[in-house]
Amino acid sequence: MIELAHRLPQRRKLVTALPGPRSAALAARRKAAVAAGVGSTAPVFAADADGGVLVDVDGNSLIDLGSGIAVTSVGASHPAVAAAIAEQAARFTHTCFMVTPYEEYVRVAEELAALTPGDHDKRSVLFNSGAEAVENAVKVARLATGRTAVVAFDHAYHGRTNLTMALTAKNMPYKERFGPFAPEIYRMPMSYPYRDEPGLTGAMAARRAISRIETQLGADAVAAVIVEPIQGEGGFIVPAPGFLAALSDWAREHGIVFIADEVQTGFARTGAWFACEHEGVVPDLITMAKGIAGGMPLAAVTGRAELLDAVHSGGLGGTYGGNPVACAAASATLGVMRELDLPARAREIEAVVLPRLRELAAETGVVGDVRGRGAMLALELVRPGTAEPAPELAKAVAANALSQGLLTLTCGTYGNVIRLLPPLVIGPDLLADGIGVLADALRASA
Ligand SMILES: *Cc1c(COP(=O)(O)O)cnc(C)c1O
Repeated sequence: MIELAHRLPQRRKLVTALPGPRSAALAARRKAAVAAGVGSTAPVFAADADGGVLVDVDGNSLIDLGSGIAVTSVGASHPAVAAAIAEQAARFTHTCFMVTPYEEYVRVAEELAALTPGDHDKRSVLFNSGAEAVENAVKVARLATGRTAVVAFDHAYHGRTNLTMALTAKNMPYKERFGPFAPEIYRMPMSYPYRDEPGLTGAMAARRAISRIETQLGADAVAAVIVEPIQGEGGFIVPAPGFLAALSDWAREHGIVFIADEVQTGFARTGAWFACEHEGVVPDLITMAKGIAGGMPLAAVTGRAELLDAVHSGGLGGTYGGNPVACAAASATLGVMRELDLPARAREIEAVVLPRLRELAAETGVVGDVRGRGAMLALELVRPGTAEPAPELAKAVAANALSQGLLTLTCGTYGNVIRLLPPLVIGPDLLADGIGVLADALRASA
């Protein structure tokens, strides 16, 4: 892994206890002005970020192994992205594509057609958030099939709007008392190799879900099956090999739209442009956001031309969808990803980090499972000698790491997963330091 040039020194350095006085003062202002329902992982306020570091308002330099939840894969201030944003903003920030179209939107759609799996004829539509992309993929699938039922999976996360809350599996904190939820959503068992009965193959896990769909709904009622090829918020669950392929084959046989939600896994994160590629799966529709635009809010649905073109003119859109500044950032981001071959870099990160995580698992006895692909890696923490989830341990490890200047995220249905989502441009020394801090935090808390 080569060291890339960065604007900020790529090193961990604490100059105050966390939070420092400036962050503490901002936290007090925040409490009086910002809704309590918005949580934050870290108690520090950001001032600057570049490569693999995030500098807070007190001058502490933290190692960022979260990338703002898999968003800043090219870093949070890549010069090519910043320049594209400035150049576009200086010409025009908005016209509304539904009023006066512009080339930047078309270019992103062309790029997505070329990048996403499959060589069929494709169309794209752009939005502002992952949830909006998912909502619209479901709209397209329902209209194109004339059916209503949508199948989602255990541990799924698809967003926080009404329809996507219904698709999301976990109650706290996403759904608790926010109902009633959108109807016609059906939840099926996921392939979760660590927690499934031993020997359950991907094909068997798919069959388990399919037979339930067939008996409870009937295949003919189903408009779409939506699945994250590697589940994100649900715990970085990598389904057993063959699960996705069996599911998508069955969907195709029955005229069901197979939607891959690659909002978290897309854009080089897992060592391929899209995680479906690892399983040789070509989705009918693919939802994307997070890593697409170097931090700018942009989302997309790309898929089969006959599905997206089935929708009447005016049926899809939104005031800000495909904002020109966000589109310019996306084209620049995709250019950086190609130029630096970030899928290969994600594989290098896996090659460096995964063995270290396995060593840690063997050493500490509190890691039930080490999993993930590319730069989307996780530790599932359990009580020693059992598979019982240890969420308090995950919390303690993340807090300990943070106190030493390492930002990590937790996730999982049981809240017991430490997930690593480094910017793909992180350098080898900083990455090694980060994993060292994580190891110490795990040892100290276990
Ligand atoms: C984050 C995420 C979403 C929602 O994206 P937002 O931009 O937060 O609305 C949807 N699906 C998956 C898989 C995600 O990880």
